[in-house]
Amino acid sequence: MHTVIMEGKNLADKIIHNLKDRIKNLHEKHKITPKLVTILVGYDSASKIYINSKTKKCAAVGILTDNIFLEDTIDEGALLNKINELNNDKTIHGILVQLPLPKKFDTLKILSAVSPDKDVDGFHPANLGNLLYGKAAFVPCTPLGIMELLKEYKISVEGKNAVVLGRSNIVGKPISILLLNENATVTICHSKTKDLKEHTLQADILISAIGKPNFVTADMVKQGACVIDVGINRIDGKVTGDVDFENVKNKASYITPVPGGVGLLTIAMLLSNTILAAVSANKQGNT
Ligand code: NDP
Repeated sequence: MHTVIMEGKNLADKIIHNLKDRIKNLHEKHKITPKLVTILVGYDSASKIYINSKTKKCAAVGILTDNIFLEDTIDEGALLNKINELNNDKTIHGILVQLPLPKKFDTLKILSAVSPDKDVDGFHPANLGNLLYGKAAFVPCTPLGIMELLKEYKISVEGKNAVVLGRSNIVGKPISILLLNENATVTICHSKTKDLKEHTLQADILISAIGKPNFVTADMVKQGACVIDVGINRIDGKVTGDVDFENVKNKASYITPVPGGVGLLTIAMLLSNTILAAVSANKQGNT
């Protein structure tokens, strides 16, 4: 059987190429340059790596960035004030609070403080709520990237059994809703799921967002399934996904590699959401 490796790079490059044109257009017609501000509270080495990579990609397409690094000694009030200041700054179109926040913060309260109109991560409760209606202004970037990848490879979702491993608010739950909105029959599995393999073997589309290397083995995968690996795990400095790629690829008809799969699309979708925010601010006269 021929297995298709779903490369994120080609699609991400294509998306980014289109974004460059849209930014040029925005600038020429409306004198607007999209701007994304990221807030990082405390020191987290993985977060620093993500922020550096987002900053580089933004620069490459012509999105302005500002990264605000705050000590973890900052209190909730001061952080909320900072977010409010950014909400009121018309030159800023997207605000991203880098997760995870230090434990002392109430993440939901902090994410809820970001204006839903600037919530390019799509984590504000208003945007996640609207996702249920299929009408979110901003959809979380990783799930959005997965849907783009499925579309690019012409994998139809309607009527398929989709099994999602993981139920986080940033990946598992939103991708489940997106798949459901596209008429898949969705099963969401988590750490309390019994007989996980019974579920995964039913999956025409299997999405793993757990964060455990080599967790999904070939015996858990239905012959001919499409396997999307969201996991990013670091072992001895090497990045690997949740799926035992080498063995699962012999069973799957489509499979994403890690690195080089979903991760590249996540950043492309963040850039896309930032441009969307700038366009809609312009339409509302908020620039
Ligand atoms: P979380 O840690 O928030 O969630 C992990 C989920 O996996 C939880 O719902 C948990 O269940 C479930 N889980 C853990 N162990 C098992 C198990 N043995 N069986 C079944 N379910 C299990 O992670 P995230 O959603 O934030 O991220 C998941 C992975 O995706 C990580 O590796 C992360 O680095 C990666 N990631 C990649 C991105 C990309 O761009 N490619 C973007 C975002 C994340 P329970 O709820 O019961 O605890």
